[in-house]
Amino acid sequence: MTAHEAGGAGGTVIITHPGTRDPGGGDANQPPAFEGRNLYLSDRALRSAAEREGAAWAADRLEAWGAAMGSAETYALAARANRFGPELKTHDRFGNRIDEVVSDPAWHLLMTAAMREGEHCSPWAEPRAGAQVARAAAYLMHAEVENGTQCPLTMTYAAMPVLRRHQDAVPWLAQSWIPKVLARDYDPRTLPVADKTSALIGMGMTERQGGSDVRANTTRATAAGNGEYRLQGHKWFFSAPMCDAHLVLAQAAGGLSCFLLPRILPDGTRNAVRINRLKDKLGNRSNASSEVEFDDASAWLLGAEGRGVQVIIEMVQHTRLDCIIGSSGLMRGAATQALHHAAHRSAFGKRLALQPLMQNVLADLAVETEAAIAMTLRLARTFEADASDAERALARVATPALKYWLCKRAPAVVAEAMEVLGGNGYVEESALPRLYREAPLNSIWEGSGNVMCLDVLRAARREPAAVEALLDELALARGGNALLDAHIAALTAALAGVGGDRGEGGSDESGARRLAGGVAVALAGALMVRHAAPALADAYCASRLDRFGSGALGTLPRGAACAEIIAQA
Ligand SMILES: Cc1cc2nc3c(=O)[nH]c(=O)nc-3n(C[C@H](O)[C@H](O)[C@H](O)COP(=O)(O)OP(=O)(O)OC[C@H]3O[C@@H](n4cnc5c(N)ncnc54)[C@H](O)[C@@H]3O)c2cc1C
Repeated sequence: MTAHEAGGAGGTVIITHPGTRDPGGGDANQPPAFEGRNLYLSDRALRSAAEREGAAWAADRLEAWGAAMGSAETYALAARANRFGPELKTHDRFGNRIDEVVSDPAWHLLMTAAMREGEHCSPWAEPRAGAQVARAAAYLMHAEVENGTQCPLTMTYAAMPVLRRHQDAVPWLAQSWIPKVLARDYDPRTLPVADKTSALIGMGMTERQGGSDVRANTTRATAAGNGEYRLQGHKWFFSAPMCDAHLVLAQAAGGLSCFLLPRILPDGTRNAVRINRLKDKLGNRSNASSEVEFDDASAWLLGAEGRGVQVIIEMVQHTRLDCIIGSSGLMRGAATQALHHAAHRSAFGKRLALQPLMQNVLADLAVETEAAIAMTLRLARTFEADASDAERALARVATPALKYWLCKRAPAVVAEAMEVLGGNGYVEESALPRLYREAPLNSIWEGSGNVMCLDVLRAARREPAAVEALLDELALARGGNALLDAHIAALTAALAGVGGDRGEGGSDESGARRLAGGVAVALAGALMVRHAAPALADAYCASRLDRFGSGALGTLPRGAACAEIIAQA
């Protein structure tokens, strides 16, 4: 077979290599291995978005990371870390309580690489313009291959703004924790933070009775003097319990408050955090998620009593950014596998990538993925340390809108990509099943879909600066596409129509998915019109905007008799 350019959308050039031959001497019609590629150099959309949004200086580093992530070795480690998931060891051989989680060596190798790259800390450790965008690009490539390891990396990255903001309140923080969180030598040992080379931080908010509604938390915190408290209660989801500390919410005398809860206390003893069991999860299987109980566990107050949500929300905002980046990575990881497969596989005497209906599917996957990457890196720029007030205002509405929309798109895109591979896509070795199991998760944690849409509605009602920043961003694309112009006009009216602060529970809540989806596709359309090849931009606008975000469930039109329909069901 000769080198051949197939019909990839938007200038994607797919080079075919000689196919495998079956033992009988015939052409087995199977594609060559997908892995062993540079995930940065082979991703035109990612490279141009990274450059555009301020991370051109990071090109060499991202190229090296793209080679590492796309290597056959990394794919093998990812498969192994998920096949041989973590195990809980509650006691040692002498019957002492240890509450340790044992992970496969593959997990540790992946963590070592990602921490060296700085996924958990780079914008804080090396602040400069474009640092968040560079990290986002690195994180996105990691998400194409393995997702479980990203959980502790994200939580650690997201915790840093909170640690820094409250470092004066707890001297221990500035001296011991912050330098260790900024360090890049992965250290999984069970030691007090002072004796470790680096530290990881997790998050504990969700309890049995509620995750979205954390104000219903029941875990109690009793002051023990000098900013130290004793926690009694539980957490129902407590991921990466081997982190050196977690930021947790608990009810103190003054109300719901945020605490730093170390795993090992300064004197070397284990904190009273009991791991009851590990969750048996659909996906994210390399990463341990646990249920824990606190039996007078020691914790240190961050911020004032009663300000827990305000303190931890800064962490949550950053974890939401990572859910968005992660979902874009999942989509890209799946879509490129589909493009690769179709470029090599033939059916009915013709390459799949040359069949008109398959071209429609592949082009649609490519359009969706390119839009996701453009939106993701644009959003990452609003998180930069030097971001203007207008950029921060844009983040206020764009973060929940994209968290809802892109996390919702990921399962559909991954499932469609899987189908392109036919039966091979349903088999573990293709890595598609792993991406598929992972895909719904970003939509559930760190604020589920509805919660995000209600947040968009809240911003529209109460934060005129956020709406203004959004409309200013969209105006940059005005005149580039008639469908986009019409959509922006309709969105502007919809945003104005939500009115002032009418409190929660108003009828507008029912349509919040349409509003959030409308914001997301408008942002995507505007970025595509301004920066993508005309073929991609036109395809995006023609296929997404007329639906006003109704490509998802939960977008029945205003006036639909929802209560009656539910009763009949
Ligand atoms: C693998 C995994 C790991 C996790 N790790 C952690 C962790 O490390 N730390 C942690 O704190 N949590 C963790 N979580 C928990 C996660 O953040 C919660 O599951 C999530 O916040 C949803 O909370 P919930 O499960 O209590 O659902 P609920 O809050 O009961 O929500 C159920 C559904 O109702 C919707 N809903 C809620 N309120 C409204 C409303 N007003 N109007 C309309 N719809 C509404 C939600 O969008 C959701 O779809 C993890 C979850 C998973 C699956």
